[in-house]
Amino acid sequence: MENKRRKFHTDIESVQKGYANGVAADIPLTEEQKQEMINEAAYHYGKFLTALKCDWENDPNSMETPMRVAKAYVNDLWEGRYTAMSEITSFPSDGYDGIIIERNIPITSMCSHHHQTIQGVVHIGYIAGIDGQVIGLSKLNRIVELFGRRGAIQEQLTAAIHNAVNKITEGNLGVIVTVVASHSCVSCRGVKHQGAAMVTTKASGAFRDDSNNARKEFFDSLKINNGGHQI
Ligand SMILES: [Zn+2]
Repeated sequence: MENKRRKFHTDIESVQKGYANGVAADIPLTEEQKQEMINEAAYHYGKFLTALKCDWENDPNSMETPMRVAKAYVNDLWEGRYTAMSEITSFPSDGYDGIIIERNIPITSMCSHHHQTIQGVVHIGYIAGIDGQVIGLSKLNRIVELFGRRGAIQEQLTAAIHNAVNKITEGNLGVIVTVVASHSCVSCRGVKHQGAAMVTTKASGAFRDDSNNARKEFFDSLKINNGGHQI
């Protein structure tokens, strides 16, 4: 068995380039191109504030806001649209045939519909199988960051993370991804309900097959006390 390498954007992306939850059409951007994009976005955000009758250019708290907002989109909130992730390496499982779970991976994203934040946790489980491929643990966090740091709808985001793990651990016996998240577009606008959380799960292989306990073991594992960490 050998280690395998996959280029992230050619092998794992599933959303059309240019969409809010896909990568930018001309990625990877040079630093110069990124700065040009930030400058242009800041210019138009200033127009947006002016349209809202905000005298931002004379308000000491707002005069730098268009640039702050543009930078936040490019460097943080939508970072995953402009970042070319390095290759992902998978490794032989060396005979381990149990479930591999990483739980409580923090996620910050942004709803594609309302451009309000989504915050929560992601739990990922997979069964590589005796002759399968495993992923370095922190790469699961990197995958969550890459897909989270974009526009998103939670259902698609869950499927995208599942698809990435499924492809990287080719030959796996099952993959399951659960996202538990609060949406500011629900808590701060519209119905304005605090505390509601959305739970989405995408499962394949043994995690969809009722003849075994994989799904139950996954969800039971999320409840195991972890030195006081709440799930
Ligand atoms: Zn929304």
